[in-house]
Amino acid sequence: MDGIRKRLEQELRAAVGRLRQVGGATALEDLLGPRGEHWSYADEVDEIQANERREIGFATRELLVDRVNRIAAALERLDEGEYGVCVECGENIAPARLHVMPEVLTCVRCQDRLERTSRHLQPVEVEVGAEDD
Ligand SMILES: [Zn+2]
Repeated sequence: MDGIRKRLEQELRAAVGRLRQVGGATALEDLLGPRGEHWSYADEVDEIQANERREIGFATRELLVDRVNRIAAALERLDEGEYGVCVECGENIAPARLHVMPEVLTCVRCQDRLERTSRHLQPVEVEVGAEDD
């Protein structure tokens, strides 16, 4: 799982860097929280920022917040030994899917269902860490 962690950390750094660039500092505090355990990544993004400055627009901010959220959640799940398990149905997520999108929290079937539902109803937020104990 070390490879996965490395990839997630890289993705998180890149996403956090982009988010900072679009002025998401406040959002970052909300996202990364008082524990601050992910803030270390935020200090290593200067190079990435320089390279990706041009790609950034306001429209991406929401996506980035979402992405940072999911990657951070995936890292937490990795810490908890729950990585690769669908947050919706509890089934294992296909390794090939994780390989392509290491931050995904749902299996293909649930993702499909959520996306289909969100077209007809309000957007569905996948709430990670909010499940009942
Ligand atoms: Zn599922």
